[in-house]
Amino acid sequence: MAFDWRFVAEELRMADSVMPEGPRLCTVKFARRLLPGLRRRGLDALSRYYDVSIANRHRAGDDARATATILIRMLEAVDRQGIQYWDQLEDWLAGRPVALESRAPATGGCVCEAPCLEGSRGRVRPVDAGSLWLDGGAMFGVVPKPLWNRRAPSDERNRIPLAMRCLLVETEETTVLIDTGLGNKESDKFKSVYGVANLGDPTKLETSLSKLGVEPGDVDVIIATHLHFDHAGGGTVRGVTGEIGPAFPTARYVVRKGEYEFARLDNERIRASYMADNFEPLARAGCLDLVDGDVEVVPGIQLVHTPGHTPHHQSVRIDLGEEIVLFLADLVPTTAHLPLPWIMGYDVEPLVTLQSKKDVLGRAAAEGWMLAFEHDPFVAWGRATTPDGGKPGCVLEEVVEQALVSGANRPDGQGHTPASGRPTLEEAE
Ligand SMILES: [Zn+2]
Ligand SMILES: [Zn+2]
Repeated sequence: MAFDWRFVAEELRMADSVMPEGPRLCTVKFARRLLPGLRRRGLDALSRYYDVSIANRHRAGDDARATATILIRMLEAVDRQGIQYWDQLEDWLAGRPVALESRAPATGGCVCEAPCLEGSRGRVRPVDAGSLWLDGGAMFGVVPKPLWNRRAPSDERNRIPLAMRCLLVETEETTVLIDTGLGNKESDKFKSVYGVANLGDPTKLETSLSKLGVEPGDVDVIIATHLHFDHAGGGTVRGVTGEIGPAFPTARYVVRKGEYEFARLDNERIRASYMADNFEPLARAGCLDLVDGDVEVVPGIQLVHTPGHTPHHQSVRIDLGEEIVLFLADLVPTTAHLPLPWIMGYDVEPLVTLQSKKDVLGRAAAEGWMLAFEHDPFVAWGRATTPDGGKPGCVLEEVVEQALVSGANRPDGQGHTPASGRPTLEEAE
C-alpha cells in the first residue's frame, strides 16, 4: 500500500528525523469516510483532489512529503466539522456518534425524552402524529404474505400497524416540521376503516409538539413530502365552527408544484389518497409555497426528489453539520421496506420507486447517513451501511427505537429485526 502513515514514518526514520509517536491512522479508511464520492483513494487520486504537487512521483521522500501534506488537509477538513480530538476522530471513522464537547450549546444539550439527533447546525426530533392500520398486502405489493407477515404481523383484518412519525427540525433560525399526519377533518367511518388513532388537542400532532416545547405558532416552515392524507392531513384543521384553515398559522407550506398538480387530477386510481381539504385551504390562505426541483428550503434542509410512490414524491435531507439525516417518507415507509423489491402496491410507478431506492439508499450507505422512517411502528431511525458483499441497497446499524402504535405486535422469531432491516436470503431474492 503506497499511502499509509507507516510509510511516512519510515521515511522520517531514514532521514534521521523525529520519529512520530501515538496511535496509527488508516489513511485509506480516513479518505473513504471523508471523501466517499472519490473513486480511488491512492496517492495520485488524493494529490489531484487536494491539488498537491509531487516534485518527483515515486521518489520516496517526495511521495512522503505529499502524503503528509494531504493528511494535514484531511485533518483540517474534519476539524472544520468540529472533530478536534483523537477519540472524536476514531468515533467518526467508525461511524459512531461523535461527542463534540467544544460545540455543545450553552444549555448543555438536548434533555427531551424523545429521540434526538443534534449537530452544530441544529437538531432533529421525531413527532408522534398518531397511527393507522393499512392492508398488509397493499403495503408490500408483489411480496407474498408469508414473507412480509414475518416482518410485519397483520391483524385479523389483514392490516398492519403504521406510525405517523413526523420530523421536527430546529436550526438556530428556523423551526421546520416535515409532514403533519392525518388531521382532524375525517369522519368516524373513515377513521374506523383505516384504524386511525390520532386524538389530541386537536390531534396528537399538536399534543406531541407541545410536549417538545413547540406550539403551532412557533413553526416557520411545513414541508410536505407529498399530499397523501396520512402525510399532509394535519396541515389544515377544522375549527369549532366547521371552517377549515391552516393548522400552523404563521408557517409557509412548502409543496412540490408537480405534486400539487398531481393531487388535483382527481383520477380513479389516486382519488382515495388525496382530499382537497388537505391542500386547497392553504392555497386560498396564500401560504402555499409551490417549489420546483430539489431546493434548499432553509440552510441545511434540502428537498430530494424520490419519485415512484407518486411522480413528485420527495424525501428531505438534513445536514446537521456532523451528521446527514434523510427523512425517507413513503420511499421506504418502514424498515421492512428496505430490501429493494419490497415496494408498496400503493406506488403509482413501482419501477421508478425501485430506481429511486437504488440511488438514494446506495448513496446513504456509502456516506453513512441516518435514515428516518415515517411509518415504522417501532423504529425512528438508523444508520445506513452497505450490505455484506457490497450488494446494492443498504442495511441499518445504530437503530434508535421508538414504539408509537399501541396494540402493534412485535414480529416474532427472526422475521422482522428492526435492528438490521437485513432480509434473509429467501426474502432478498
Ligand atoms: Zn403516500
Ligand atoms: Zn404514507
